[in-house]
This record gives sequence, structure tokens and C-alpha cells, in this order.
Amino acid sequence: MQVFKFGGASVKNPDAVRNVASVIRHYGEKHLVVVISAMGKITNALEELTQNYMEMNHEKVMEKFHEIKDFHLEIAQKLFEDPKHPVFFHIEQIFFHLLRYIQEPPSRSYNYEYDRIVSSGEIVSTYIVSHYLNYVGVANQWYDARKLIVTDSNFRDASVDWILTPQLANKALSPYMAGSNNNKPGIVITQGFIGSTNQGFTTTLGREGSDYSAAILAYALKAKEVVIWKDVPGLLNADPKIHNDACLLPNISYQEAIELSYYGATVIHPKTIKPLLSRNIPLRVKSFTDPALPGSIINNISENDNKVPSFIWKSNQMLVSIFPKDFSFIAEKNLSRIFSDFAKHSIKVNLMQNSAISFSVCFDYDRINTPALLADLQKNFNIKYNKDLKLVTIRHYESANADKMFENYTIFLEQKSRVTLQMVLKPIEKV
Ligand code: ASP
Ligand code: MG
Repeated sequence: MQVFKFGGASVKNPDAVRNVASVIRHYGEKHLVVVISAMGKITNALEELTQNYMEMNHEKVMEKFHEIKDFHLEIAQKLFEDPKHPVFFHIEQIFFHLLRYIQEPPSRSYNYEYDRIVSSGEIVSTYIVSHYLNYVGVANQWYDARKLIVTDSNFRDASVDWILTPQLANKALSPYMAGSNNNKPGIVITQGFIGSTNQGFTTTLGREGSDYSAAILAYALKAKEVVIWKDVPGLLNADPKIHNDACLLPNISYQEAIELSYYGATVIHPKTIKPLLSRNIPLRVKSFTDPALPGSIINNISENDNKVPSFIWKSNQMLVSIFPKDFSFIAEKNLSRIFSDFAKHSIKVNLMQNSAISFSVCFDYDRINTPALLADLQKNFNIKYNKDLKLVTIRHYESANADKMFENYTIFLEQKSRVTLQMVLKPIEKV
């Protein structure tokens, strides 16, 4: 069987939903699990609703609630002519439960309430798509992902139970999949991003986590392949908004995909690759607007990894140089102090370098965490820093001809390994 994943952009309006039906009809195999995200930017809207709910700003909560409900009703009205179609009953039911919930004051942590509320986006979007597919003759079964994916109770960033999940998913979905001999449809529609604790509390897997859901289910069901349908032709070696000669990477290895997402490439959720790698399940990235194009494939073949260089830009970088106040060397004791400050403020290091008496670290600037980190560091160290920098990572830089490319930048720090070049830089301001 195959697993397909459609993200928010692929179901953002009625035409997009119609297109999903056509992609499934033409490219889906008989036995297929389809993982779908919330429609368009609905997860952001539900996040705002949750924020207002926690602040007990009832007026704003209700405003958001109606905006979100109307958005879905409008899409359904354009997809289904009959106002009595059961899809409308389901939409009303989901929003009725949500409304009842948000009318009570919050009783638990922000992360718990977030998962309870934000998961509604995936529930309603999959109901609409599932009904629509049945309506146009693509027989399918809607399934609640919370009955398939078991997690711990680390709300908003839950970890998967890799023993229970495959057991549950197989038991629940095998009647629909290859080898079963019954009248059930071969296509299952379920939600990305969400799961449930053993006690039945809804959890989420982290923003953009639907790719990961697809990989979890593929692992559990030993799928033949996963296809992530996107609004780009596949994996690109650079952001076309920055590099006008960006090109498609037709094939990279799992390891290369892990490296690229580690350095900040955003095409696929970083956790997606590992479950696929461990079962050797290929991952295709294809365009839902041009589904006939071959797209990219991630598998165990590494031959093509070094054919073209890849460029990954991260903005909003901060570079801090740290000097012990007592002029002691940067050795284990000072390093362990520095790292414990970083860990305390949950700041992930993107790049680091040391000399005898200074230690430089580059990381993503965060409005809240960064000032708190600097204050702690200043207790033991003198620090100097630069803000608003960029970090560029070039994989396979040997063939990149990079010198000319950065003529107009001041380079603050540069680091090279055999395959990866990283630079912290800032554009030279023209006067
Ligand atoms: N809807 C969720 C989000 O926007 C999950 C996903 O799209 O992958 O983060
Ligand atoms: Mg999304």
C-alpha cells in the first residue's frame, strides 16, 4: 500500500480539494492511506483562538471561532450542492463541541489546551475531503488518527509510542488494505499532526507535523512508498526566491535529506525521514499542480547526493562571542557553563567556534529566550554580539563556486568540513 500526504496549501479552497480528488483518482493505488492537514492557514487561526482563550478574551475567541467555522462552511457549500448533505451535519457537530469547550474557562496547561483546540482543524478538513471524495465516487473511509497514533503526554511536541502505534494502526486499518477480502473501501482518509495519549487525550506532533504522521503510518503499515504532494515541483537545491538558478534534486539519500533538514531546509519535517529509513520506504515529493512530473525521490541511493550543491539560508541569526572574565582559557569548565546556559534557555546552537580565550556561537534570535540567555552568560563572561545576521550552509560546496556569490557580504565566521561550508554573514550596506 501507499501513503499520500496533502498539506494545508493543497486543500486551501474548493478547487484545491477538487484537485486532491483528481490526484488520488489518477495517482493513488487501490490501497492507500491519505494523511491530510488543516485547510490553508487554519492552524495559525486556531493558534490565535487558543491564545485568546488562555487570556480569557472571550470576545476575540468568539470572533476567531466564527471566522474559522465560516471558512469551512463556505468551502463545503461550494463543494456540495445539497445543503442537506451529511457533511454539514459533521461540520456543525465539530464546531458545536469546540464551542462548548471554549465557553468553559481553561483548566489545564497552555500546551494541553492547544492540542485539544488546534486539532479541530485537521478533524474538520478530513471530514470535508473524505465526504467530497465519496461524493465524486472515490470510495473511502474516514478514520480518526487519534485511534492510530499513540503518544506520550508531552503536549504540542508529543513523542510516538513505537510499539503500540504499529499494533493499533495495523489492527484498525488492515481490513481496508491489501490482502483483505471484504467490501470495505481501499482508501482511508486520516489526519496529519495529531495523535492521542493512552488515556485518550489529544496530542500534536509539532508544527508542520503531518509529514511525520505520514511516515509514522507508513512505518506501521510497512508501506511501499510515501508521496508528499506539495506546491513545488519537488526538492530544490535552493530557495528560488534567493537563487534564480535553483534546480530540482531528482534523487537524494535518506542521510542527505536528514542533513539538509538539520541545517534548516524546510521542504520536509525533520522527523519524517528516520521511520522511513528504518524500513527502507522511499519518499517521493511531487507537485499537486503538476502531478505528472516525476518530482524527487528520497531513498537509500546516495550516488547523486554530491551532483549539485545545496544552499540553505537562515535569517535572524545572532552571533555571540563569549570571553571568560578572568581571562582563563576556554576549556571544559567554561564550556560546560556556557552549554548549560544554552540548555536552560532552550536555545539550539547552529554553529560554534573557539579560540584560546573566546567562544563564538551562532543561533536563532528569540525575542524572549535570547535576552534571558545573555543576562545569564554575563554573570560569568564578557560578551560581544552581532544581530540580524544570516547563516548560509552549502552542502557539497566543492562545486559551488561560492566566492563570487558572497562578494557583497561581510563574513563574520566561516567553517568548512569535507562536504559542508557554513558562513555567518551580513550584506554590505551600500552608501
Ligand atoms: N496543520 C499543521 C500545521 O500547520 C500540521 C501540518 O500542516 O503539517 O502546522
Ligand atoms: Mg499546515
